[in-house]
Amino acid sequence: MKKKEIDPETANEIKKELAELRAQLESQKKLKKKAAKPKAEKPKKKAAKPKEEKPKKKAAKPKEVKPKKKTKAEINAAKKAAKAAKEKEEAEAKAAKEAAERTPEDDLEEQFSDEQIRNFQIEKMDMDKLTNKVCEIIADFEDKGMLQSDLWKKLKLNSRDGSRLALRLERRGLISREKILQKGRWTYKLIIEQAPIKLESLVNSPCLTCTVEQKCDFENSYPEPSPLHCQLIEDWVAVDLSKKKK
Ligand code: SF4
Repeated sequence: MKKKEIDPETANEIKKELAELRAQLESQKKLKKKAAKPKAEKPKKKAAKPKEEKPKKKAAKPKEVKPKKKTKAEINAAKKAAKAAKEKEEAEAKAAKEAAERTPEDDLEEQFSDEQIRNFQIEKMDMDKLTNKVCEIIADFEDKGMLQSDLWKKLKLNSRDGSRLALRLERRGLISREKILQKGRWTYKLIIEQAPIKLESLVNSPCLTCTVEQKCDFENSYPEPSPLHCQLIEDWVAVDLSKKKK
């Protein structure tokens, strides 16, 4: 095969075009490189270092003032004042406690004399009968006692009459009262001291049919009749006790 010959002019043009193309290619490569290379960010300047605060100079140490020595009189006066303050505080605490625990009965006790309380009467009422009834009711509760308000309800007495009645019985030694806190209020519990003699206990008593009952007295000396040396009484008590034991 015969090699085709290119005339030099055409060859020069081709060379020229090739050179231009190469130049264009080179410039494009450079541009691409530039685009690909990220701009290295310059590190920001370090924030300004805060100025270190120099510690303030220490305040001048105050001169220690030595306390003056107290005199004996001053010490005694201080002791006296402290004692008086303590006593006042105790008295106030006691008064506050008493005020909190105060009941209507306390007011009644202040209003009436001992004699008025002992002889208290409720209008149109047989006080001896009422006393016996109250004692019988309270005696059923034995040493546990019963709330006075429950007793007033049972006897249909108002609290003022009831409270005075309780005071009367206490003054006569028949009952005792115990202050208690009930549902946030101070009140009294009534406890029997002397149980009333029940009528049943007197059944068959020799005294009921005794012929010398009128002359019988505790003060009598033998052979005068007296319960202190009465064989009938002794026998009756012995029989009564043996019945109870059974
Ligand atoms: S104590 Fe004896 S003597 Fe006196 S009244 Fe009774 S039974 Fe009679």
